[in-house]
Amino acid sequence: MIEPAPPAGPEFGERAGRLAIVRAEGAHLFDDRGRRFVDLGATHGAGSLGAAHPAIAAAVAAQARELLFLGSGYRTPVRTRFLEALLARLPPRFGRAFLSNSGTEAVEAAIKIARGATGRTKVVAAMRGFHGRTLGALSATWRRELREPFEPLVPGFEHVPFNDPGALRASVGSDTAMILLEPVQGEGGVHVATAEYLAAAREVADRTGALLAFDEVQTGIARTGRLFAFQRWGVEPDVLILAKSLAGGVPIGATVTSPEVEARFRGSHHSTFGGNPLACAAGVAALEVVERERLAERAERLGTVARKALADLPPERVREVRGLGLLIGIELRAKVAPYLAALEERGFLAIPAGATVLRLLPPLVVEEDDWSAGLEAIREVLGHGAR
Ligand SMILES: *Cc1c(COP(=O)(O)O)cnc(C)c1O
Repeated sequence: MIEPAPPAGPEFGERAGRLAIVRAEGAHLFDDRGRRFVDLGATHGAGSLGAAHPAIAAAVAAQARELLFLGSGYRTPVRTRFLEALLARLPPRFGRAFLSNSGTEAVEAAIKIARGATGRTKVVAAMRGFHGRTLGALSATWRRELREPFEPLVPGFEHVPFNDPGALRASVGSDTAMILLEPVQGEGGVHVATAEYLAAAREVADRTGALLAFDEVQTGIARTGRLFAFQRWGVEPDVLILAKSLAGGVPIGATVTSPEVEARFRGSHHSTFGGNPLACAAGVAALEVVERERLAERAERLGTVARKALADLPPERVREVRGLGLLIGIELRAKVAPYLAALEERGFLAIPAGATVLRLLPPLVVEEDDWSAGLEAIREVLGHGAR
């Protein structure tokens, strides 16, 4: 049974959901009435290791007893360890990282780095792109309902159709500081970039002197079957933007670039809590877990399982199934909300991407049985009455 939403609580803004979640274990979430749900997206891409991984909990607890905060201007071994661990997993050009606390902050840092390093102002982003909700990141975000109430936004942003190399070539010029793209558009409906598109973006950036930035806040950390999605295409950005699962669910953001870009950067940027010891300890642990538990391979394998299971959904209900690894979008011909409610009744929590796309973004640690059961529930919910 789906109960009506409770009356508004003290939290400003978006209505909290009906469910009160009190505990997590693996990909399971438990509510205040002891009911168990399988997370197929409830942790919105930040819970790739689940929402209570023991290794993350242990790292945070141990770090908290030693040093839970330090002001800037001092080094501390755990931050160095995290930065080294992150950069060691990236191609050699990535020698510098700016640490913050969220995806939107990591995007803000990218915008400032690009403007500060190029002396140019224009940012070219993609239609249907999502980059966060602070004013700079929101200026790069496409959806009108998110933008309009807060206009005027930051000037200098332009949106071009995604996966259209010609539009990119026409828009990017000697005034462009940055091209900002998601290798797979997550919030915008799960649209996967073509190899041709990302190669064109690299070529346009090189020709014009614009920096190429990939927002991998959602696709990063093994989600798409590689540690970073760009590794699939072999196209390296100048700026890589990470957050969500980077520290196993503990708030963090990272904007990674090269010493060459840093050398050109004029101005300053800083964050009090960015790179704090708790987040860095969690980040070190998360990168270890991703490798120890082979989560990239797992994402790839379970993504293939899903593609097979979802191959024959009824075309009168389903327009298309898209995705990469464990980032999957099922585009429906009708609104997705009733289907999400039906899944919740069956014990599976999925999320939308826009009004008509059912998005699957499960923890990469999801048990194979739970994943198969979730896919079966989706088939059931979407197939009901169709055959
Ligand atoms: C979620 C998301 C963001 C924003 O991250 P927050 O931590 O919510 O600020 C930015 N870019 C992409 C691609 C995202 O999926």
